[in-house]
Amino acid sequence: MRSALGLMLASVVAAIVIAGVWFWTSSPRADAAPPQTTAASQADPLSAAARQTARDDVDTTAALSKRADATQAAAPAAAPAPAPVQAPVAAAPKCANPDGLGISRTVVVDTTGGPGFGFLQYKQYDFLTDHEVVLTFDDGPWPTTPAVLKALADECTKAVFFPIGLHTTYHPDILRQVAAAGHTIGAHTWSHAHLASKKITEQQAKDEIEKGFSAVKLALGANPAPFFRFPALAHTPATTAYLGTRNIAMFSVDVDSNDFKSKSSDEVINNVMTKLDKEHKGIILMHDLQKHTAQALPTLLRKLKAGGYKVVWMKAKTQIETLPEYDAMMAKTEKPVASGRPIGNVVQTVAE
Ligand SMILES: [Zn+2]
Repeated sequence: MRSALGLMLASVVAAIVIAGVWFWTSSPRADAAPPQTTAASQADPLSAAARQTARDDVDTTAALSKRADATQAAAPAAAPAPAPVQAPVAAAPKCANPDGLGISRTVVVDTTGGPGFGFLQYKQYDFLTDHEVVLTFDDGPWPTTPAVLKALADECTKAVFFPIGLHTTYHPDILRQVAAAGHTIGAHTWSHAHLASKKITEQQAKDEIEKGFSAVKLALGANPAPFFRFPALAHTPATTAYLGTRNIAMFSVDVDSNDFKSKSSDEVINNVMTKLDKEHKGIILMHDLQKHTAQALPTLLRKLKAGGYKVVWMKAKTQIETLPEYDAMMAKTEKPVASGRPIGNVVQTVAE
């Protein structure tokens, strides 16, 4: 009798625990809005990035399922609870560096209305907690970018990239490497124009923004994230309003590496760590086209880890829909694709 009572009690407790797990995983987290920590799969048209994203999502999903399974195994008499998430379809490859900086939290941003992030300019959404940082890189793709990608991969961590449209036409293959590594890719205008300049009309500013996104799309073969950073952080009421109508999130900064004027990698590291000591968290602004940044990154990421900092990776809930007229404009800038074979192998002089 006592054991039957005990079994019933155990079943009730287990049911409450399972319901709790289900509720925790399925209910919206008001404190994290608009970026929400996510474990759910989502449609992501970037093919290479999507594969990586799926792996990351499976990672979290597997952990959640395991926890739910363990609870159920301990209480076979409990009523079946709703499955919190779908079972993983494939085993997730583990990071090769168990001591890597990694990703502590992935957040997905609903860019409706053009929210702004980075307290230097936009103070509405304070979604980072103490010692949480977001890694961001502007101005690529550039020949220095692969070194940045390697440093991030070595630490099993992810960043947000804001490429310049014109640079994507020089190095589309390098931008595709950024996508293949699974990082978030937004845009940073077509030609790095200062959009608050009096010489720039509203139409020209709009063209710079849209051509930037269309150029990234052309290089990737897929729509980028609706994430944008103004060159020199120079915004105007008109340009921020325009981004709002296009549902594009604006990124400012909390911690400026000042890498574009640093004379050494040590200076870049020192700038970031000193400012973090003061701010304790935030969006870090760096430039993947700066060689000192590429050189600094392996050490900088180690120092972040040693300092107890954790990387939050920002992704978009949905990708941007680029405008067809700008896509057509950018298609004209595309260079003919090389076959990959040296010209001497294709055309040989056999008689002169
Ligand atoms: Zn820039």
